[in-house]
Amino acid sequence: MRVPFIAGNWKMNLDARAAAAVAGAIVREVGERTDVEVALCPPNVYLKAVAEILQGSSVGLGGQNMHYELSGAFTGEVSAAMLLDVGCNCVILGHSERRQFFGDTNETVQQKVTAALAAGLTPIVCVGERLEQRNEGQTLEVIRDQFHGSLAGVSAGDMTKVVIAYEPVWAIGTGEVATPDQAEEVHANLRELIEAKYDAAIAQQVRIQYGGSVKADNAAELMAQPNVDGALVGGASLEADSFLAIVDAACSPCTR
Ligand code: PEP
Repeated sequence: MRVPFIAGNWKMNLDARAAAAVAGAIVREVGERTDVEVALCPPNVYLKAVAEILQGSSVGLGGQNMHYELSGAFTGEVSAAMLLDVGCNCVILGHSERRQFFGDTNETVQQKVTAALAAGLTPIVCVGERLEQRNEGQTLEVIRDQFHGSLAGVSAGDMTKVVIAYEPVWAIGTGEVATPDQAEEVHANLRELIEAKYDAAIAQQVRIQYGGSVKADNAAELMAQPNVDGALVGGASLEADSFLAIVDAACSPCTR
C-alpha cells in the first residue's frame, strides 16, 4: 500500500511570521498522522524556523531545490548536507520553474537526484509537459524522456525512495487543473516506465504525486485515481485551511 504524500511548495512566498503561522496551524491539525505523509517546502531562509515548529510531529520538511555538489564555490546555492542539517528529509528537484528560469536540465536534475539519495534525502522529482507539447500529442514522449533522463543511474534499491511529481506545466499556477483522466493516463504510464526499467514490485511502491492547480475542491477526484498517490501543491499550500483540506482529501482513497 502506498501512503499518499502531500507536499506544499511555498515557492518564493510568505514572510517569517506568515510561514510560522501556516506551519503552526498545519502541525496542530496533522500532528502525528501516519495515514498520509505531509511535508512543507518553505524558502531556504525559513527552513530552520519551520523545522523547529514541525519538531515532534510527522510533518516533513523539504527544500525547493539544491546543488549536486557537496560544497564549494557555488554562490547562492545550498547542498544536500545543508538541507539535512536544518532538518529537511526531502527536496523538490527539477520543478518546471527551475527548468524554465534557472537552467535545470534532465542532466543536472539527474545529478541532483543522485546527490540527494546519497545524502538520505527523498527526492521529489518533477516531470511535466508544456501546453504546446500536449497539443501536439507529445505528452507521453516528453514524460518518458524526463523520466529516463532525470532518473538515469538510480538503482532499484534507491528507486523506491524516489517520489515522482507529474506536473503539467500548463496547469501550474494557472487554475487550469488536469482532469482526473488526463492525470491518471500519465501516472499509469509513469508506473509502466518504472516497471519496464525495474520491476512490477518497485513500480507498485513508487509514489507519484500530481501537481498543478490542486485545490480543496478538485483534490479528492484526482487522488481517487488508482495511480495518483498525493499532490505537490503550490498556491493552495500558502493557507493552512486549503492545504489541510487537500490533506484530508488524500485520505479518502486510502485503499491503495
Ligand atoms: C507547484 O508549484 O508545484 C504547483 C503545483 O503550483 P500550483 O499548485 O499553484 O499550481
